[in-house]
Amino acid sequence: MHEFSIITSIMEVVKSEIEKRNAIMVLEIQLEVGELSFLSHDALQFGFRALAENEPKIDKVCLKIITVSADVKCRKCSYSGSMKTIESEVYHTAAPVFQCPECSGPIDIIKGRECVVTNVRMEVD
Ligand SMILES: [Zn+2]
Repeated sequence: MHEFSIITSIMEVVKSEIEKRNAIMVLEIQLEVGELSFLSHDALQFGFRALAENEPKIDKVCLKIITVSADVKCRKCSYSGSMKTIESEVYHTAAPVFQCPECSGPIDIIKGRECVVTNVRMEVD
């Protein structure tokens, strides 16, 4: 499970922050997840709760996941903005199309693939 390895590394970062700042309790961890990362928010939360179980200084329910929408830029025309999506029968949801919505040319992904901790709120002495 990809999500679990991501959560494991996030935990390592948070734990080193706790040590550095001598924190008493972590109150909130803000995680930005790009819509093109295709990470399951449920799996991230599940993995987080499982690991936080063994961390008395980390609130089990403090992980806040924020979805970052994708932005692309066309290599042929000057289009930049959101991606075109199609209703997918496989995923039962709108699937992104990796093509320029204007000219069907190749695109570069500007944002939407990240998975980064943007803020950690903790109680310190
Ligand atoms: Zn284009």
